[in-house]
Amino acid sequence: MDSLIYLDNAATTAVKPEVFEVMKPYFTEIYSNPSSVYSFAGQAKKAVDDAREQIAGVLNAKAPSEIYFTGGGSEADNWAIKMTAEACKDKGRHIITTKIEHHAVLHTVDWLEKNGYEVTYLDVDSDGLISLEELEKAIRPDTILISIMFANNEIGTIEPVKEIGAIAKKHGILFHTDAVQAFGHVPIDVQDMNIDMLSASGHKFHGPKGIGFLYLRNGLKLGPLIHGGAQERARRAGTHNVPGIVGMGEAARLAVQDMEVNAKKQIEIRDYLIERIEKEIPYVRVNGHREKRLPNNVNVCFRFIEGESLLIMLDQKGICASSGSACTSGSLDPSHVLLAIGLPHEIAHGSLRLTLSEETTREDADYVVDNLKAIVERLRSMSPLYDDFVKKESEGK
Ligand SMILES: *Cc1c(COP(=O)(O)O)cnc(C)c1O
Repeated sequence: MDSLIYLDNAATTAVKPEVFEVMKPYFTEIYSNPSSVYSFAGQAKKAVDDAREQIAGVLNAKAPSEIYFTGGGSEADNWAIKMTAEACKDKGRHIITTKIEHHAVLHTVDWLEKNGYEVTYLDVDSDGLISLEELEKAIRPDTILISIMFANNEIGTIEPVKEIGAIAKKHGILFHTDAVQAFGHVPIDVQDMNIDMLSASGHKFHGPKGIGFLYLRNGLKLGPLIHGGAQERARRAGTHNVPGIVGMGEAARLAVQDMEVNAKKQIEIRDYLIERIEKEIPYVRVNGHREKRLPNNVNVCFRFIEGESLLIMLDQKGICASSGSACTSGSLDPSHVLLAIGLPHEIAHGSLRLTLSEETTREDADYVVDNLKAIVERLRSMSPLYDDFVKKESEGK
């Protein structure tokens, strides 16, 4: 384990030891159901309320009652989109999203399309940014929802959320953002940014898995996605995951407390990685916007390389990374995000995503690039395509 270099923090993060410590008592000693009436339940209830307050504070929400705990980011995305569709169906059935959303959003709107809704998928430019002009043009009288992610999980590009919020507000359309990659990593202010609904997930910022939340602006009349008991003000049934909620609250607190320092540290190593890769490995493309980018995201494509082979060989060196197609592994389709930024299939196939944590060091970065260089060289030496390419290049000159 000690030689493991974990660079897949966009897939999940380690629970911080401090976070684990505050969770522990809620498994064993304070195991009460916060919805019960006796005072023993009060301790669990208070812990849940404290976490809610913590998270509301991070978002600059008007009130803690705007935070609803869910079973993770996917549930929050499903809830926001499906229940907006349900609540607004008399006003209209048109939804605007982008081509680069997470599947929790894309497959949800796809399901709605099969059930009588219409969806506009906005294009993105070669950096992964949407066009505000195109967004405005896509708005129709029957548009009920704009769902655009805060930051992309593959290429790290941060969308112009505040401007999107302003456009949505101007047209009286609800705005949901999947902020699963952004929350705890970059500043978010739901009031300043005019965000009506926001999804986040504990395990993407050093909290536990299987817990997330949906921010729902007060006054929105969304029904529940999960029916049952009256938990979460009768909008999300199910006994509270108290240890998970407590852990996510503490992880959120730590994330904001250290956000500036952590971001600075990660940006330095991120840019060092990108610089070394670009300088030392030929035929490489950096994906995602250079500045409007998550502090921890590196995404590159190597021509004449299969991403999967690259991952296997990196794994043999103790490096955990991911490729565009890894999430849907089993399928040979390249990432929908890389195709949306205009990459041809053969280049999109050679993608590599490295996502850092604040624990990632410059030595880690050096170890990764040194190995990457050797592996890319080795894989290319076995590639007939690369062979042809080199021959053509030398004949051309
Ligand atoms: C991880 C992720 C999700 C899904 O969150 P879960 O808690 O794993 O369900 C949704 N959207 C984005 C952008 C993500 O990165």
